[in-house]
Amino acid sequence: MELFDVYSLFDVIPVKASGCRIWDDKGTEYLDLYGGHAVISIGHSHPAYIKALTDQINKIGFYSNSVVNPLQQELAHKLGEVSGYEDYSLFLDNSGAESNENAVKLASFHTGKDRAIAFRKSFHGRTSGAVALTDNPAIVSPFNSHHKVTFCELGDLEGVEKELSTGDVAAVIIEGIQGCGGINLPSSSFLTGLSGLCRKHGAVLILDEVQSGYGRTGKFFAHQWAGIKADIITMGKGIANGFPCGGILISPEFKAVKGMLGTTFGGNYLAMSAAIAVLDVMEKEKLVQNAAEVGEYLQACIPSDPRIKDVRGRGLMIGLEFNVGIASIGNSLLHDKHIFTGVAGKNMIRLLPPLCLSKAEAGEFISAFKEVLA
Ligand code: PLP
Repeated sequence: MELFDVYSLFDVIPVKASGCRIWDDKGTEYLDLYGGHAVISIGHSHPAYIKALTDQINKIGFYSNSVVNPLQQELAHKLGEVSGYEDYSLFLDNSGAESNENAVKLASFHTGKDRAIAFRKSFHGRTSGAVALTDNPAIVSPFNSHHKVTFCELGDLEGVEKELSTGDVAAVIIEGIQGCGGINLPSSSFLTGLSGLCRKHGAVLILDEVQSGYGRTGKFFAHQWAGIKADIITMGKGIANGFPCGGILISPEFKAVKGMLGTTFGGNYLAMSAAIAVLDVMEKEKLVQNAAEVGEYLQACIPSDPRIKDVRGRGLMIGLEFNVGIASIGNSLLHDKHIFTGVAGKNMIRLLPPLCLSKAEAGEFISAFKEVLA
């Protein structure tokens, strides 16, 4: 049997990893500034993380949501403390798309309404509801397209209010910073306005922090730069440093009803021990602060070049937008300089390194990047 060939892959077989470094099967060392789509938050193979997972698997590796799992409560407690959302509740699932599905479903239960507003260039995942919330017709199938979703321009409060005023909108969903759509930052005034409009019209404000969350931008969640609170926050990717895990934070205004949401694997023992280890390491090593400082340093060191149109992002979520295609630059970084970077579209290099990236490692990238540009 062959694999269903849907992924564009780096032509590298990793066999070992540590911190921001990866080694392949030929012994070549790479600097990882992509973290496998932003899933490596505390660094590869962190000893505390490996210990937490191995200790756990030696006790009880997996059990479904049919018994009390104290690790879920421990995670909820820690997460409430570090995120500033102590009075919210936590529902655990397995991925970013599933988190967004659950968020929109919950908003729909809560309001009794069935339409959602999302934004141009959004990406919310690949499951039926999540892909319908995503502004990319190429990945929406006829089955997905039956969901009632309206796309507004990022920044257009008037357009959003026009849609909300019809009274049938359950939820407005927005990324803390748009990732796959090209590192687009909603302004603080837009987020503040959006929050006010949602309150005024009785719609639920969902902040998708799957990519921009958990310290990546230098605050725990990217929307906290705007000083607003969301009704539901969705999470995934780095929350368990690569172990599949997702979740949503839910405002106290929502009432839990038995059976309303559910999953077999969500919140399992291994995912929980991984997620708790991530928060412990993030706190101990001050990784949110590190993301802010190293991110700012990295952005400031990007050389000016006529081909670079814009450099934007926050913390360690950075987009380098070119006015030319970046395929050859990305290939050269990977094959000549042995540095993993990501892309957004055809003109943007997207950097999503582990949050433990050091200034020296950022400097290593800058030197290599200058040589590639030259
Ligand atoms: N939301 C955002 C903002 C994302 O960037 C992604 C993945 O890239 C998702 C949701 C979907 O997450 P997953 O691939 O874990 O389903």
